[in-house]
Amino acid sequence: MSSSVALRLPSIDGLLRHPACAPLAERYGRDSLLTGLRQLLDELRPGVLSGQLSAVEIGPEVLAGRVGERLAQQQRSQVRRVFNLTGTVLHTNLGRALLPEEAIEAVQMAARYPLNLEFDLVSGKRGDRDDLIEGLIRELTGAEAVTVVNNNAAAVLLTLNSLGARKEGIISRGELIEIGGAFRIPDIMARAGVRLHEVGTTNRTHARDYQAAIGPRSGLIMRVHASNYSIEGFTARVPTAELAALANAHGLPLLEDLGSGSLLDLTRWGLPAEPTVRQALLDGADIVTFSGDKLLGGPQAGLIVGRKELIAKIKKNPLKRALRVDKLTLAALEAVLGLYRDPDRLAERLPSLRLLTRPQADIFAQALRLQPLLAEILGSAWQVSAVEALGMIGSGSQPVARLPSAALCCRPQVSKRWRGRYLLNLEAALRGLPIPVLGRIADDALWLDLRQLDDEPAWLAQLAQLQVDS
Ligand SMILES: *Cc1c(COP(=O)(O)O)cnc(C)c1O
Repeated sequence: MSSSVALRLPSIDGLLRHPACAPLAERYGRDSLLTGLRQLLDELRPGVLSGQLSAVEIGPEVLAGRVGERLAQQQRSQVRRVFNLTGTVLHTNLGRALLPEEAIEAVQMAARYPLNLEFDLVSGKRGDRDDLIEGLIRELTGAEAVTVVNNNAAAVLLTLNSLGARKEGIISRGELIEIGGAFRIPDIMARAGVRLHEVGTTNRTHARDYQAAIGPRSGLIMRVHASNYSIEGFTARVPTAELAALANAHGLPLLEDLGSGSLLDLTRWGLPAEPTVRQALLDGADIVTFSGDKLLGGPQAGLIVGRKELIAKIKKNPLKRALRVDKLTLAALEAVLGLYRDPDRLAERLPSLRLLTRPQADIFAQALRLQPLLAEILGSAWQVSAVEALGMIGSGSQPVARLPSAALCCRPQVSKRWRGRYLLNLEAALRGLPIPVLGRIADDALWLDLRQLDDEPAWLAQLAQLQVDS
């Protein structure tokens, strides 16, 4: 028996007046609600005409509920907090360094109020934004002058263009590197208008190679810290001091891209040695560039430090205006640099350093504590164990070095042919949590490295919502 009365969708006006829709208008605004309702009704119309939908499915309460879900979904921010349990601390895809409270407060102040970004409060005249951090940088690195841009890639581009445009840039073949995200030294040089003059070989470059390349067309000598790979075995590299002497003798600037670069010797915290900015300058580099959000532990920025007259030339380049940093970055950077004045307390106050130096025993104890809880949630299809693991610094710092850490290792207890699917499903379920949890799959298991699990209560609170398809 077919129903003789054709179903009709409720009218937009009727829905807007319905009590179930009133709270939605209040919360999301009348226009958004109207758009949402129109879209939903358009989608449902064919189903109504073909008789596939029942009266209940197009009732006002049901429709209001569906629109409400969509509006909530749309309102949710696309920029989301996540748990980085990948084992890589300075993870470029997850935003690299976390800022200390001091920097967060400085950012809030800079966001909320007018500030002396380019205004000299002493003279009452126009100022220069670089001046806000120049004193600190000089104190911490021994540099004569400084300028700051958007990131280290910009720092390299700007420096090359300012000091070597239409001339040759001499660089070792062992340093023609590619960093993630399509940053390749030869390409950057070309874009900066510098002609690449490569010398030596991939594994060995000698002072005489540089010497032979120097001529009337030379504009600068460049050295790049091989941050994301390592050359081992039969190798030769000219020490910076020797290269600096050679560059100096020919009146060429020596530019050193340190990549991560560090302001302090990290070995005092038991971390692998990384060249310091101060040492590169002491060795004779004329300009040193490095990132703000790698080992420095600050906001995304590119710092260019070195000889005063060279920095002045760099600052005059119109590209500087295009690559400059904003007030929020400068505020955060100043606060982070300020913490470096007290190295004894730095590991407590700077989140990246605190996380990098977290003792393995501490992380392992946390893994033991959380293991039964996760095992219970995942059920009998999974074996969850607290194990030792190896993490990484990340962001191209010390690619070979490993950080002794601990993890929750989740192994599906199913036949080999199903394991891959189980692992991908668990990975997706963790990603689907209100605060997505990101781990890594390796050796037929999903690993959650706990080095960076600071906010244990928030992690635990959402665990009960985990729903893994099998
Ligand atoms: C990371 C890195 C860069 C790029 O720095 P960003 O701050 O990511 O732009 C450039 N050079 C080297 C050697 C690096 O390690």
